Amino acid sequence: MNRCEVLIVGAGPTGLVLALWLSKLGVKVRIVDRTAGPGTTSRALAVQARTLELYRQLDLTSAILEQGHRVPAANLWVKGEAAARLPFSDIGADLTPYPFLHIYPRTSTSNC
Ligand SMILES: Cc1cc2nc3c(=O)[nH]c(=O)nc-3n(C[C@H](O)[C@H](O)[C@H](O)COP(=O)(O)OP(=O)(O)OC[C@H]3O[C@@H](n4cnc5c(N)ncnc54)[C@H](O)[C@@H]3O)c2cc1C
Repeated sequence: MNRCEVLIVGAGPTGLVLALWLSKLGVKVRIVDRTAGPGTTSRALAVQARTLELYRQLDLTSAILEQGHRVPAANLWVKGEAAARLPFSDIGADLTPYPFLHIYPRTSTSNC
């Protein structure tokens, strides 16, 4: 029977990234979750720049950028009238290689 060196309880983003990193370092992991399978609803829509930076080290960022959608701005409406426009296209300029808002559903991350 295969033995694991680390048991990770919880297969959310924290547990999955920990499992990825430990596996990359050659550590045998077992990950368990109280749910029977992957989630079918998303609790995260926008991927943050720091997450993309971390994913880049795991060679995941290109696929996520190709399959997701970059959001240039959000338009706020009040009672049918345009009230404000929030530009997002360069919100992290000079801070990150990914200075934008990127939409990629969390439930799709496991497909990368
Ligand atoms: C409505 C909403 C929208 C959000 N939108 C965004 C967004 O757009 N972008 C973004 O970056 N973040 C977003 N977040 C935050 C993001 O979802 C959380 O930061 C992230 O889910 C935290 O991951 P986690 O692995 O720490 O916890 P969780 O995602 O809660 O995962 C914990 C896992 O552990 C399992 N578990 C718990 N207890 C046990 C146990 N005793 N035994 C076995 N398994 C157990 C659970 O079943 C679950 O699968 C949003 C959150 C919410 C609620």
